[in-house]
Amino acid sequence: MRRFPFESSLPAPHSQRVPQPSSDARPERKAAAKPPPKKRMDKLDTVFSCPFCNHGSSVECRIDMKNLIGEANCRICQESFSTTANALTEAIDIYSEWIDECERVNTVEDDDGA
Ligand SMILES: [Zn+2]
Repeated sequence: MRRFPFESSLPAPHSQRVPQPSSDARPERKAAAKPPPKKRMDKLDTVFSCPFCNHGSSVECRIDMKNLIGEANCRICQESFSTTANALTEAIDIYSEWIDECERVNTVEDDDGA
């Protein structure tokens, strides 16, 4: 009958190595977003200031060539204007028509007493 040597087989307690966070791993911040590339400047302006809220560059003009409608609207106060357009109509034309329209209305009001 053999007796097994019953020695403690517990592993010697050794300090466990804890992986250190690598100092290279700095939190990477996203670089500040670059401003978008400038819009092509060869295009005519389609953004104007609003005659109602006087907000600069809040009015956008669009020309619907399919329906020959020119539209201007303000993204700030939501005022809008539409007029007929043709192949030669440009954003500025729609805008100036809108301005004319506004002036005409104002003039009519002003003329009331005269
Ligand atoms: Zn406006």
